[in-house]
Amino acid sequence: MQLIDIGANLTHAAFESDLDEVISHALAAGVGQIIVTGTTIEDSRRALDLSLRKEFLFATAGVHPHHARDCNAETIPSLRQIASDPRVVAIGECGLDFNRNYSPHPDQEKWFAAQVELALSIQKPLFLHSRDAHPRFSEILKTLKVENAVAHCFTGGRAELRSYLDLGLYIGITGWICDERRGRHLLELVGEIPPDRLLLETDAPYLTPRDLHPQPKARRNEPAFLPHIVRAVARALSRPVEEVATETTRNARALFGLNEPRSSPAAKRPLAA
Ligand SMILES: [Zn+2]
Repeated sequence: MQLIDIGANLTHAAFESDLDEVISHALAAGVGQIIVTGTTIEDSRRALDLSLRKEFLFATAGVHPHHARDCNAETIPSLRQIASDPRVVAIGECGLDFNRNYSPHPDQEKWFAAQVELALSIQKPLFLHSRDAHPRFSEILKTLKVENAVAHCFTGGRAELRSYLDLGLYIGITGWICDERRGRHLLELVGEIPPDRLLLETDAPYLTPRDLHPQPKARRNEPAFLPHIVRAVARALSRPVEEVATETTRNARALFGLNEPRSSPAAKRPLAA
């Protein structure tokens, strides 16, 4: 099994002390490539830095809607510069979050649209976040004619899913589907995602699958738990795990333009070097 975790926050402080081990666990578990999520300018630089040191890590460059209020005239030029590196495979995480509302809606919309325009101008896909922001989120994507994008960590309902699929978006499924309280609806909805639109991600260190036993230390999620998520998805679809793994890996390579790793990832030098 060869999986790709399309969204892991490996620059998070939770991974500061043992990132090398976290990465070797992932490789040992069959997660051969990981896209490290950038959520601020600084964080995107760190994600790029990590990806430059490991062949099987890639990065996104973007500003999360929570941080939209911190954006300024430097934001887009900085992102453009970070994203000029081929290791940056998408613009994002960007989008709208009307759930936490850490930034005012007008700021969120302004900087979401600006990042979408950046992605279109440099022809890179988008790694999108939307929480309680449907249908505004879809309207913006439609107006700007977005085609290559993933709605990461999809947790919404049927109407929202339909609208994203109509826009041609890929759909990212996390361990939320393993949550018997909040994720039950996804067990049914995942069957409505065309096989060539499904992507898998952990969103580590967040969203540790609730049915993982024993629960990891400090309940920290890791890319190594992605096989647990693909098994849950395959069960929900009543399909063989290997098939779902192969398809989602192919989808991730198609959207983000990833090649297969050239060498055995385990042979690479440690991050600390
Ligand atoms: Zn997100």
